[in-house]
Amino acid sequence: AKHGGRGGFRFFSRELLQAAEQRKTLEEDLHDALERGQFALHYQPMVEARTNTVSGAEALLRWNHPTIGLVAPASFIGIAEESKLICRIGEWVLRKACADAAAWPGPLRIAVNVSPVQFIEPGFPALVANALAASGLAPERLELEITEGVFLAGSSTTEATFNALKSLGVRLALDDFGTGYSSLAYLKSAPFDKIKIDQSFVRGATVDGARNRAIITAIVALARALDMETTAEGVETFDQLDMVRGLEVSHVQGYIYARPMPEAEFLANATQADWGIEPSG
Ligand code: C2E
Ligand code: CA
Ligand code: CA
Ligand code: CA
Repeated sequence: AKHGGRGGFRFFSRELLQAAEQRKTLEEDLHDALERGQFALHYQPMVEARTNTVSGAEALLRWNHPTIGLVAPASFIGIAEESKLICRIGEWVLRKACADAAAWPGPLRIAVNVSPVQFIEPGFPALVANALAASGLAPERLELEITEGVFLAGSSTTEATFNALKSLGVRLALDDFGTGYSSLAYLKSAPFDKIKIDQSFVRGATVDGARNRAIITAIVALARALDMETTAEGVETFDQLDMVRGLEVSHVQGYIYARPMPEAEFLANATQADWGIEPSG
C-alpha cells in the first residue's frame, strides 16, 4: 500500500501497477514516435443530415506502437499535452491532414482536432497559414475543432488567435459541446461556425429521452440563431439517426455511417453519392 494523494491509503493492485508501467512506457516511447513514423491519421466521414451526403472527414490520430499495437488517443494525448510534445504531434497532424485533403474532390472538408496547449502557442495561426500554403488547401475547406479547454487555459492571446484564424478564412468548430462547463460566453466571444454536440446527449436521447432531446433541441436552436452548423456526434443506431434528424441537426457523425478509417477507404466511400442509409421512419 502507498499513501494516496487525497487522504487515505490507496492500494496498488497488479493491474494498477501494470497500468502505471504502461503509462511510463508510453511516455518514453512517445518522444520518438514521430521520428519513427508511428503515427497515422484515420478519417471519419461527416455526413450532411438533410442530403445524406458526405461533406468531409474528421482526422483522428492513431499511434502504431511497436509492441503494444494500436494505441487510442485517449491513452496518449494527455501525456503529450503534459510535455508540450502535443505541439509537434499537432503540427504533424495539421500538415498531414491538409496535404491529404488538398487532393480530395473539391467540396470535401477536413476537420482537425487542436489541443488547447497547441492553440495557445503564439505561433499557432502562422502554423495554420503555413500548412495551408504548403498544401494548397483552400482555407474554407479546413475546420479546426477546438474544445472549451482553450478558454479555461486563460491565455491573454486567445482572442487574437481566434481573430487571426478567422482572417485566414478557416472554419472553427466547438467540440464536445455540453460536457464540462460549456459557458454560453464561449459562443458569444469566439467566431465558431459549428457546434459539435457531444455523444453523451445522443446516447442519452434514446435511452433516457425527454431531457436529452430537449437539450439537443435547444443547442440546435441556439446554433441556428447564431448562424452556426451543428453536428451530432457518436450516432450509432437508426433510432438515434432518426432522432437527431428530427431535431434538425445539420451534420451527423458516427458508427452508423462509418468508423474512422484509412484515407484510401474513406475516399472510395466518400465519392459515392449516398451511403445507402435511408431514414427508417
Ligand atoms: P473527439 O474529437 O470527440 O472524436 C470523436 C471520438 O469518438 C473518436 O474517438 C471517434 O473514433 C469516436 N467515435 C466516432 N463515432 C462514434 C460512435 O458512433 N460511437 C462511439 N462510441 N465513438 C465514436 P478517438 O478516435 O478514439 O479519439 C478520441 C479523442 O482523442 C478525440 O475525441 C479527440 O479529443 C482526441 N484526438 C483524436 N485525434 C486527435 C488529434 O489529432 N489531436 C488532438 N489534439 N486530439 C485528438
Ligand atoms: Ca473532434
Ligand atoms: Ca467530440
Ligand atoms: Ca468524431
